[in-house]
Amino acid sequence: MTTSPTTYAELLSLVDAGQQGRDIHDPATGERIGGAPRHTADDLDAAVARAREAQRGWGRTSHRERSEVLLRAADAVEAAAEPLAELLSREQGKPLNGPNARFEVGAVAMWLRANAGFELETTTLVDDDATHATLQYRPIGVVGAIGPWNWPMMITIWQIAPALRMGNTAVVKPSEYTPLSVLALAAVLNTVLPEDLVQVVSGEREIGAALSEHPGVDKIMFTGSTATGRKIIESSAGTIKRLTLELGGNDAGIVLDDVNPQEIAEGLFWGAFINTGQTCAALKRLYVPDAIYDQVCDALVEFAQTMPMGVGLEEENVLGPLQNRAQYEIVDRLVEAAKADGARVLMGGDPEADQAGFFYPTTLVADIDPSNPLVVEEQFGPALPIIRYGTVEEAIEAANSLDVGLGASVWSSDTTRAHEIAERIEAGTVWINGHGGVDPRIPFGGIKQSGYGLEFGVEGLKALGVPQIISGGKAS
Ligand code: NAD
Repeated sequence: MTTSPTTYAELLSLVDAGQQGRDIHDPATGERIGGAPRHTADDLDAAVARAREAQRGWGRTSHRERSEVLLRAADAVEAAAEPLAELLSREQGKPLNGPNARFEVGAVAMWLRANAGFELETTTLVDDDATHATLQYRPIGVVGAIGPWNWPMMITIWQIAPALRMGNTAVVKPSEYTPLSVLALAAVLNTVLPEDLVQVVSGEREIGAALSEHPGVDKIMFTGSTATGRKIIESSAGTIKRLTLELGGNDAGIVLDDVNPQEIAEGLFWGAFINTGQTCAALKRLYVPDAIYDQVCDALVEFAQTMPMGVGLEEENVLGPLQNRAQYEIVDRLVEAAKADGARVLMGGDPEADQAGFFYPTTLVADIDPSNPLVVEEQFGPALPIIRYGTVEEAIEAANSLDVGLGASVWSSDTTRAHEIAERIEAGTVWINGHGGVDPRIPFGGIKQSGYGLEFGVEGLKALGVPQIISGGKAS
């Protein structure tokens, strides 16, 4: 195929394994949308062998040639944007509108273009009478990309766009919950990419484990839970693979007493509820000072009540279902734990029984004990605990008290004060007066058990190359 598919039916036909495949259902309706191919360990071996072969030629192309290919890939994604967004909405559950499916497909094209534009020059380290030493980044080889189900297309591109730009090839293992979205994205990319640069092996956890221990794979880009990240460290040890690990988080937001609650309510809401809360760097516990606690709670409730939740393909909705039953049960268990502990539910917390989809209502929980499971565990869904604090020192200590450190935020009308507090928070990114905004030019990554390695920007390109020093005396 040489042109991008322009209809949903055409796109689905490229990836649907039909009745032979594993059933994939729309989490909003329960309707079967297609069959995911059941790839095997032999398929993985064959894909890795083809990727190694393709990498020989691709690794020798210039940065300019690779950038041109990435720009063509961005054009192909834009040409297929509507069918890609529809499939993503049906499979993942996220609505077309709001910061959801159309937004995600737009981000895919944006990241491809941004990676095409970055420059990673050879650096001259020493150049004196006796010595000339340079540092440059060579391709690593074959990159295994393992992703989650929350932002399946965007995260795949975060992993593979810099990989391709640096002269690597990629074998992608999508989440077993959202394989069709990733297969469809790859099919669209492959309308313009040279053969075997990007291949997808669709399977369960075992395929991910086989990829991370595969001797033909040189680096793993992994985004997913901390528990799986730990397993990948173990299974990659035998071959000393390079790793970038973007793992779970439990981001704190600290509101200072000088804010106008009405003005920050929208930013707080989307910081927490983007993608219906199923976002790694979303606001997952909000610390609010006693002096303005009730005003912030009221402003959040007022805003949240205006945000419709429902089936993703209905244009008015901006919040959708949880992607899968297991995640629904985690959110339900944590909200029940908060209720059992005497926390005050401001809205939500009462999902309808016997519904077709995994809808959990937008839930705001106040006056919750700081050690409640809804605060200290990652809920990854539409339920935000709002914790009352006395002094800023207490809030900083609480923010830093967990063993994860992906993102955090500080909300204040005094940006100097916010900056000083931000520097004391143990997180890879601290946003001021916002939460979770990512930008292809600004590096992103976690600390503590949220992982290691940076993505995005020139730092992200370096993570997809291996540094090489060429050093020697000058010829006399
Ligand atoms: P998960 O860890 O269950 O699965 C992620 C991927 O790993 C899937 O493709 C899965 O098949 C694969 N996998 C499972 N076991 C494996 C193994 N032993 N070896 C190799 N691969 C294996 O995560 P999930 O439930 O899909 O995603 C939700 C989690 O991801 C949350 O904790 C969230 O915070 C995190 N996340 C982090 C970021 C980030 O940038 N830091 C972004 C999105 C999601």
